[in-house]
Order: sequence, then C-alpha cells, then structure tokens
Amino acid sequence: MAIASSSASAQIQKLVDATYEKYKDVDDGAVATYIPELSKANPDHFGICLATVGGEVFTAGDWEQEFTIQSISKAFAFQMALEERGREEVAKHVGVEPSGDAFNAIELEATTMRPFNPMINAGAIAVSSLIKKGSPEEGVRGFVKRMEKAAGRPLRIDESVYMSESQTGNRNRAIAYLMLNCGIIDAEVDHTLHQYFSQCSLLVNTKDLAMMTATLANLGVNPVTKTRVFDFQFIKDVLTVMFTCGLYDYAGEWAYRVGLPAKSGVGGGIISVVNRQLGLAVYSPKLDARGNSVRGILACKELASHLGLHAFEFTNVGSSFIEWLI
Ligand code: GLN
Repeated sequence: MAIASSSASAQIQKLVDATYEKYKDVDDGAVATYIPELSKANPDHFGICLATVGGEVFTAGDWEQEFTIQSISKAFAFQMALEERGREEVAKHVGVEPSGDAFNAIELEATTMRPFNPMINAGAIAVSSLIKKGSPEEGVRGFVKRMEKAAGRPLRIDESVYMSESQTGNRNRAIAYLMLNCGIIDAEVDHTLHQYFSQCSLLVNTKDLAMMTATLANLGVNPVTKTRVFDFQFIKDVLTVMFTCGLYDYAGEWAYRVGLPAKSGVGGGIISVVNRQLGLAVYSPKLDARGNSVRGILACKELASHLGLHAFEFTNVGSSFIEWLI
C-alpha cells in the first residue's frame, strides 16, 4: 500500500486530534480497583493512536503513558496457541461462542465443559495453559518476545501489577481449578496462572498497542520493522473471535455500532482492527460497568464512523474512506 499523501495524513491527524478534543473532558466511569495496583492509574489519562499497514502513525494525548495490557493480551495469546497447537487441539480446550456474560464469569459450556471463548478469563486461562513452557520464566519470555516484535520495541512486565493480581486473583484461581476438575487444563495450575497473570501485566503504551494491532491487520507483519510476527493463516480465527466476543457482554452492541474486531482490557486499553488497513488503540483508564474503557469506546465509535470503517458499511464495497485516502 502506498504511503499516504501529505494532505491525507493531515486529514487523518486532524480527525484523531478532534476525537481527542471531543472526549477529553468526559469523566464517566471508574478506574478498576479489584486489582489494587490498577487503582493507582491517573483517571485523566487519554491517549489515541492509529497505525496504518503502510507504517504511518497518528497519535493524540497521552499515547506515551504506559499501562498494563490486561485482557488485550488474550487476543495475542490465542494467536500463539493456534500457531503452537493448531486449531483442532485448541478447540478441545476452548470454544468460540460469545458467553453474553461478564469477563470473569465462573461458567463453562454445558456439554463440552470448555470455556465459552478465549476472550474471557476462563478461556484465556485455558489458552495460557496451552502456551506455557517447561519453566514459568520460559513461557513468559516467549510471550513477551512475541509482543516486542509486534510492538517493534522492548517491553517488560509490570511486577507490581503482577504481584497485586497474583495476590488477589482468587476468582481466576477458582476458574482454573474448575477447569482442572473438568479436564480442560492440566494440574500445573500455579504455573498456568503465572503465565496468565504475567501476560496481563505486560506494560505497553497506546502506540505499542496500535502497532501490535496494525501487525494483525497487516497479515502478521509489523508495518514498520517489516518483521513477520504472526502466522497469517490463524489471524482470521483471532479476528473472528475478537469480533464476536472481544468486548464480553457488550460484544453485540459493539459489533452493531462499531463493526470491527476489537479487544478491551481493565487497564483501560482498547484495540480495533481494520483488516488489511489499520490498527486503532485508545487508552483511558475509567471503565464502564462491563469493564470497558468509557472514552475508549467513544473514541473508537467516532473514528470508525468518520472513516467508514464498519465491516458492513455501505461505502465499504472493497474499500473504505481510509483506503481511498491512502
Ligand atoms: N487480569 C485481569 C483479570 O484476570 C484481566 C481482565 C480484563 O482485562 N478484563 O481479571
């Protein structure tokens, strides 16, 4: 894809800036506190980043502020599980059905006993069990390395968030033991939870998330470094589950109003993928009752509607506004 003309770039930057301005004073929602360390986030922070598959990056606000990726890691961990274990094996451990329930629901499918999908905690813990390695350090290193390639820069785990969640994560422990009881995960429960909590505690900024998302959009190749990060044959699996399950019990409403594969996290991040075109990321730590970033949702809705990004947009007959601009 060609590099955007300077006027097209200026137009996109203007829209990103205008979206930031429009929502910067929205004060609804509350910072997550159930992981005590997350309550220290500055509720005013608000960052936006849009990265195209051509390598152009547009930012606004606090895009350099680091925060933990939390549940956004679930999309990338699912990709890794598919690559490492293949579709059939992964499908024995996790389904692809929207649960319609909260991200931390303690429930499994009635007959298969699998967690509903990999975007909720139960499914993501099952995925962590699949991608963990011989030692806890090795498994976490493998995940961080892959995320570094996707972001295009070195990343690290926030040890205080990890400790905070590990000390208080008894609901996730309950989910894991339920899955052990049902034969979905193996008996290495602590090892699996170490992998899961570590994945959630990866520190990123809004631009990192946008680059990681643009890498998914770009068939698995980082648009700036040109490094192949993900096996493209599984990206459609990941995007499909993000589309139907990425925002938990808001997923239907999201698909209706925004129409993009997406994933949110309780750290306040949210990503949206426009396949073959761009990655969009927003950070704002105040969450709604379902655990999704309030300003994150507003900013994604705004940008998707202005740029005609909805998957079934009537103007989107093979090309959207942004493809036309670039
Ligand atoms: N680490 C968090 C948890 O397991 C992730 C949840 C989220 O981001 N929705 O509760």
